Amino acid sequence: MIYLDNAATTKMFEGALGQYKKFACDLFYNPSAFYREGRAVRAELDDARKSLLKRLGAKEGTVIFTGGATESNNLAIMGSRRNGKWEYVFSNGEHPSVYNVAKELERQGAVVHFVPLMADGQIDYQKLEEVINERTRLVSVMHVSNETGAVNDIKLVKKIISKKSKALLHVDGVQAFNKLVFNLSELGADFYTISAHKFHGPKGVGALYVRDLKTLKSIVFGGGQEGDLRSGTENVAGIMAMKWANENIDVKLNFEKAEKLEKRMTEILKKDENFKIVESASPYIMSVSYRGVNGETLARALQDQGVLVSTGSACSTKKAGNRILESMGMRKEDVVSSIRISFNAYMTAKEIEEAGEKILKCAKAIKNLEL
Ligand code: PMP
Repeated sequence: MIYLDNAATTKMFEGALGQYKKFACDLFYNPSAFYREGRAVRAELDDARKSLLKRLGAKEGTVIFTGGATESNNLAIMGSRRNGKWEYVFSNGEHPSVYNVAKELERQGAVVHFVPLMADGQIDYQKLEEVINERTRLVSVMHVSNETGAVNDIKLVKKIISKKSKALLHVDGVQAFNKLVFNLSELGADFYTISAHKFHGPKGVGALYVRDLKTLKSIVFGGGQEGDLRSGTENVAGIMAMKWANENIDVKLNFEKAEKLEKRMTEILKKDENFKIVESASPYIMSVSYRGVNGETLARALQDQGVLVSTGSACSTKKAGNRILESMGMRKEDVVSSIRISFNAYMTAKEIEEAGEKILKCAKAIKNLEL
């Protein structure tokens, strides 16, 4: 089986599993306990925090451990909102764990703006500038699109915001962290979301970077863990496994490997001119469509051939992908023909070769059937 759905989730590193077991079965103590064993686990958690901050390249601020990116996104948005006539700005390309929080804010009576995307999948920076004003409380723009691999220019987003407001900037960095080389202190984000299972860590664990703790309030109430911002005993084993994954990825080297995989896949698919490929800056994610062939039909046929790809976002049964591709101005027939191919850096050239040829063959066969 060739797995080309790494944007949905990745296989956990064996080394991360080793850490998981160590902190689940041996050093299993509650990090809030007063005795020495508990304090030792607390110190390990603080090291994990430092490890993430280092990889992020943050000069100030901290990270709060959460139960994954969906929770981090909810915390950043719902936790930074304030009463009064504040406005909130989101890109149309956001993952449902941001987009549906925005919809909920709107339902609760807040003024919410959705900014369209450009044809290449990035946020329309000009339109962004038009909606920002001194009442803007929060702007949320993802770093890398999970649908297309488009990379937003976060530095530019920050610049646009700062010209007209003091608004906070939240960035969903799930598809960027440990994939792109970047420095958070240069991006200017106030909040940054990460998720362990997208970089070979366990599912159900993530973090939210917070530049200034005063800008955030808790959305769950309880024992006051994580600086009173995320109550509940920390998922120590998951966090330590995430730390291991974080420290065992060579981001630059992996990026170069992913570039080679994407380049080869592109070459193979381009042998058939019916394939349309959305050019994007992240080599990990490709959105492609085959004229006249339904994406779901193609993905199912590929599954039978042992190649796993996705149509739209795997995280959403309601096919968020369509909302995003349509916002880029893609024609309806191309939207329904789209599949998403996503790599990890540990794949072999041979796997790409085999999968690419199968994608070509399946698409052609379905087209001939449908003619
Ligand atoms: N944001 C983006 C961009 C994602 O791709 C995903 C996962 N598909 C999430 C948020 C949600 O992550 P989690 O599964 O950790 O809740």
